[in-house]
Amino acid sequence: MSIALDGYDMVMFGMGRLGSFSWPPVAAVAGAGAGAALAYFIPSVLVLPTFWKDPPESLPAKTCRWHAATTHPEVALTFDDGPSVDTARTLDVLDELDIQATFFVLGTQMCSHPDTVLEIAARGHEVASHGFEHRHHLLSSPRAIRLDLATAVQTHRDILGRPPRFYRPTYGQLCVATLVEARRHGMEVVLWSRWGKEFAESEPAPVLRRLEPGLVPGAILLLHDNDVSCRTGTGALTRRVLGPLRRSLEDKGLEPVTLDRLLRRSPSRTEESAGQTGAG
Ligand SMILES: [Zn+2]
Repeated sequence: MSIALDGYDMVMFGMGRLGSFSWPPVAAVAGAGAGAALAYFIPSVLVLPTFWKDPPESLPAKTCRWHAATTHPEVALTFDDGPSVDTARTLDVLDELDIQATFFVLGTQMCSHPDTVLEIAARGHEVASHGFEHRHHLLSSPRAIRLDLATAVQTHRDILGRPPRFYRPTYGQLCVATLVEARRHGMEVVLWSRWGKEFAESEPAPVLRRLEPGLVPGAILLLHDNDVSCRTGTGALTRRVLGPLRRSLEDKGLEPVTLDRLLRRSPSRTEESAGQTGAG
């Protein structure tokens, strides 16, 4: 991808300085400013579920992924917003069910529960980034987004000794700054192909009904295993969903794996890796 890494916030915030010039005309400057603003927010429209009847694997140049293009019988189960005091119980349930998952953790929660972050990794799960704070990117300045991702990545380095490979923006919403900053830190932006919306339910059944049509090879499933940004009881409900979900996956011959493993099966990812290897 060839997005300019350092000029976009100048485009967004430097337009006012052009007012001191007599040329180009004010209307042209205003038009350019409006165009730049529109372009800045275009990614937020492209990732809306209503925009696609059948979402592609990702946006061009793998800038944002919804699922893996694979027929191998694997899916990725992902948990957002942790870790929390609930996460240890989730890890126990995952062990009992022999599920490998990916946790998109918040930097603030990592700082509060560093031992839990290490425990997630020690039990064979993947730790990915959900940013440092749970802020909506469409309501944040490019500078705030830059700082948030940089702080989140540094927190991963401090606690786990390595940067995250995957990043999921809060609320699944992103703008150009989100994509630029994720790429700056070498992270792949990953959304999801199906979510349980368990935070809006009180019983497992509707959550499972929502997930069921999406249980196909390459699926990326989203759940929340804690009450940090969801209503009280969400984590407990998610743990009740995991057993029946595991049985549904077994019935369909699907294995829950980490995102890294799932995407290794993706032809495009394989080609990308091969290209990187070839380039040394
Ligand atoms: Zn979240």
